Amino acid sequence: MYTKVAKKGGVGFNNSMFKIKNGLLAPARIVKSPNYDDRGDEDDISLIVIHNISLPPNEFGGKGIEQLFTNTLDKTEHPFYDEIHELRVSSHLLIRRDGEVVQFVPFHKRAWHAGVSQYLGRDVCNDFSIGIEMEGTDFEPFEEIQYKTLNDVIFALLKDYSTLNSSAITGHENIAPERKTDPGPYFNWDKLSLMLKAKLPARCEK
Ligand SMILES: [Zn+2]
Repeated sequence: MYTKVAKKGGVGFNNSMFKIKNGLLAPARIVKSPNYDDRGDEDDISLIVIHNISLPPNEFGGKGIEQLFTNTLDKTEHPFYDEIHELRVSSHLLIRRDGEVVQFVPFHKRAWHAGVSQYLGRDVCNDFSIGIEMEGTDFEPFEEIQYKTLNDVIFALLKDYSTLNSSAITGHENIAPERKTDPGPYFNWDKLSLMLKAKLPARCEK
């Protein structure tokens, strides 16, 4: 007899170090963002969107990302903050360079991470997706611990949300190709594909 594995694709979802309860991941540091609203249908969570972000641009470890997502960015601190401090944006999760996970919005709520976007002919990806920011840039590799953590987080999500699928994971640049370039050329999709036994990023054309 073989050991029973999770039903989707034989990937061992039970191995995740994370658990989800009431739309919140544990262990994760919770930083509440006001930048969310209700999903049209809480039972329709069917896409995972990977992003990258760094604030100030190309600097890691500071408070800028959390300040942006909580509308507390000080526009005098950096010239770029003057441009973006009025944005009202968020994501569900941020995975920092050291692997720490920060959650801003519960998964059953609609975080404002994707903007104008389309996946397989369907607009407004925020309605039906979970947004995960990787602390990083388009110009340098991500950390190994970030991939390991991302993998574990995705395992937990796939286990908890039966409407998600390991093949329906893509990049912001794929759902908004005219506007966005993240997670960028240094995000290693092959590595994620291998870990999840799926061909990623998911194709976004109809
Ligand atoms: Zn993005």
